[in-house]
Amino acid sequence: MLFGQNLAHAFGGRLTLAVLIAGVVSLSMADPLAAQGRRMDGDLEVAQVRDNIFLLRMEPAGNVALSIGVDGALIVDDQFAPMADKILAAIDELTDTPLRYVLNTHWHGDHTGSNARLGAAGHTIVAHDNVRQRLNSVQYHLLFRTGTRPRPPEALPVITYSDRMSFHLNGERIDLIHLPPAHTDGDTAVYFRGANVLHTGDAFLHTGFPLIDVASGGTIQGLIEATNVLLDLADYETIIIPGHGPITNRARMLEVRDKLVVAREKVAALIAEGLDLKAIRAADPLVGLDPLWEQGFIKSRAFVNIIYQSETGDFEVPAEADIKRWSE
Ligand SMILES: [Zn+2]
Repeated sequence: MLFGQNLAHAFGGRLTLAVLIAGVVSLSMADPLAAQGRRMDGDLEVAQVRDNIFLLRMEPAGNVALSIGVDGALIVDDQFAPMADKILAAIDELTDTPLRYVLNTHWHGDHTGSNARLGAAGHTIVAHDNVRQRLNSVQYHLLFRTGTRPRPPEALPVITYSDRMSFHLNGERIDLIHLPPAHTDGDTAVYFRGANVLHTGDAFLHTGFPLIDVASGGTIQGLIEATNVLLDLADYETIIIPGHGPITNRARMLEVRDKLVVAREKVAALIAEGLDLKAIRAADPLVGLDPLWEQGFIKSRAFVNIIYQSETGDFEVPAEADIKRWSE
């Protein structure tokens, strides 16, 4: 994995720790990601990002940020259920103080999968109001054509917020900012002000076409606006932890924002010309827009679909009784 090199390259070799927590790869075919051959379990890669902030990675799960210090540990997102023990073991390796808070950047299962386990163990789960609402009701994933059932009570956030909230922990202020409806309608960015580290959740990706969950209220316009909010928070020293993929910086975020604007304009122009979705997909206007985006699991035509759905509102979420596939 290029992670260590990438981090050292972007931030002058400040990487000081890399620990591997061994794990068994297993697949649960009930999950849509596993059904596509994507793993739910694996080795946890642990790296110091800056000061007391660490990054816990296991692709394709969401990136976990960890704050440690005298007041206790705080994590941002918690991957899939099979990763819960490895996350706890990694925290144990790094600090003697207990895990206190688990923040969810949004409701998706690759960021909240360990909630039930961690909630049952008494760790306090915190998220935007809409995250609790979506975790507590039937959801439908358009891209995977899969339904998700309500989570058990112990998996639900016990503290929710609507606009902004702050933690005062481990010697710094940690801000939670509700973003414009980008990836979903409950997206939170977490900004560690002292360390100057920003966890964006899936409202920002740089190594793949972004996924906008339009059935969960995400929009292309919101994604562009959210990126502008993130750009306002960040400066040239900020280390940016995206929802997935290696850490990056504000310069790359600026590039991505500009390409999102171009992507939207290209698809909107073809809609305005009167082309239908099939014709726009055939034209494949977003291919080659960004070389790094081509590496992701969402392909250029799938992103055309997403922008089309977002711009036209032309998509259908089936009634619960008509949902054929369910994920855990
Ligand atoms: Zn997501």
